[in-house]
Amino acid sequence: MVNFDRVERLLGSHNLERLQQKRVGIVGLGSGGGFVALSLAMSGVGHFTLVDSDVLEANNIVRHVADSRYIGQAKAEVVAELIHQRNPAATTEVRVGRIEDHLDILDGLDILVSGVDGEGPKYILNQECLKRNLPAVYAGVYERGEGGDVVVIRPYQGPCYACWAAELREGLALSNIDNAQELDYGMIGPDGTLEAEPGLWLHVVRVASAQADLTLNELLHQTDVYKTMPANTVILANTAMEILTGQMSQPYTAVWVNIARDPHCLVCGDDLQNNLAGDQQEQVSLDDLMNSVSIEMREDKEEK
Ligand SMILES: [Zn+2]
Repeated sequence: MVNFDRVERLLGSHNLERLQQKRVGIVGLGSGGGFVALSLAMSGVGHFTLVDSDVLEANNIVRHVADSRYIGQAKAEVVAELIHQRNPAATTEVRVGRIEDHLDILDGLDILVSGVDGEGPKYILNQECLKRNLPAVYAGVYERGEGGDVVVIRPYQGPCYACWAAELREGLALSNIDNAQELDYGMIGPDGTLEAEPGLWLHVVRVASAQADLTLNELLHQTDVYKTMPANTVILANTAMEILTGQMSQPYTAVWVNIARDPHCLVCGDDLQNNLAGDQQEQVSLDDLMNSVSIEMREDKEEK
């Protein structure tokens, strides 16, 4: 029989009970999201809502928590099954489809984990989480798994994902070194996807592990085991990589950076807050947001 004695000893029974009450939504159950789901279940989190439109395919197996026995099944269903194997008391709600068609799942969650690759779905999640005042944890893995980043977004207490993305791509790794250029611009493709060579499983899960850890920490906010983090964003180097200009980060090191909220942000900015009430906020179109970010990136690059 599965028991959580070891977790209870680490966190305390009252905190374990707290985690058992928590509701986590995970959108995107590929290599990263699946790992986060399982890690949280193994840490005692009690309720999961899982959203993914894909079916597990043969070429996923080298980068997924599910092995070849599950080929052909929906990833969300597979991960739900794996959660039950590790944490039989956990409840799971599975939605096979795109997040746009299942936004109702965001109601009543304690936190959202983004396991999606595309920037488009992240912007949708961002707007919907802000509307609901729902904290969210986003992760991105860089080309070939050289590194990745994780950010915890608390609505209106810091940046939203839109201001964060604009700032991170602009402010970091701006140098003439090829490696940094790659990190800064190569990670987002023309369709707004963190793409190209996605890296080995062992490199992806290092970023996913940080995402799971920071999610767990948020769920334990205001408890005796909560840890105050140095900043809202951690950037992990899997290989030697220039994260900050002129500063080479060694393999397995991390840099913490604090990204500030942009008061003029199209999604969470003060201008918008003052002028628009509640429901009207969603009228900022996704295209506007994507364009505003990519234009800034392009201009920046031309200056080099
Ligand atoms: Zn914003």
